[in-house]
Formats: sequence, structure tokens, C-alpha cells
Amino acid sequence: MFGIGLPEVMILGVIVFIVCLIGYWVKALIDILTNEFTGSNKIIWLLLVILIPISFILYFIIGAKQKIPKSSIPVSSPVRNLNMFCSNCGKEIKEGSKFCRSCGNKITG
Ligand SMILES: [Zn+2]
Repeated sequence: MFGIGLPEVMILGVIVFIVCLIGYWVKALIDILTNEFTGSNKIIWLLLVILIPISFILYFIIGAKQKIPKSSIPVSSPVRNLNMFCSNCGKEIKEGSKFCRSCGNKITG
């Protein structure tokens, strides 16, 4: 006949469209899982995208703005000025300790 006709192109288009949707859906899921969100938005988006797959479009529009930028998340707990170091061995001493846990040196001050 005519080789590849309109129906075939349409079917192909739909397949490509669905594959793209699944790709973005997975991408959205990974994005939600690997990022932190304000409040409990992470759970909400995760459930929403899993239960209503098409809502990943909403996620990319709205949810992405609720992400907490990685740069604003402290790598470790905030450095407190109260942290002390042993004058004898240099190990960190827990706040309020009277003796160094490492070498037993008495902490003054
Ligand atoms: Zn010490």
C-alpha cells in the first residue's frame, strides 16, 4: 500500500508521547526522593505522583519551587561556638564535660 501511513505515524507519536511521560514521571519521582521540601511537601508530592501519575506535571510547575536548595542545607549540624577542644590532646569535648573523654585532661572554664 503506502508504507507508513497516517495511523502508523499517530500510533508512533502516541508511543513516543507515553514513553516521554513515563520518563518524566520517573524523573519527578527521583527528584522528589532525592530532594528536601518545605514542611511535609515531600510526602504529599510523593503520594500525589505515585497515586495520580499525571500530577508530575503539577510537581514540575509547583513542587519544584518548594524544594529546599541543596546549598542551603547545612552539611553538618550548625557549628556552635560553645564547642571546645581539649588543650592536651586536641579532641573535641562535649559541651558541659569536665574531663576530656580521650585523655582525661581536666577541662577548665
Ligand atoms: Zn584530651
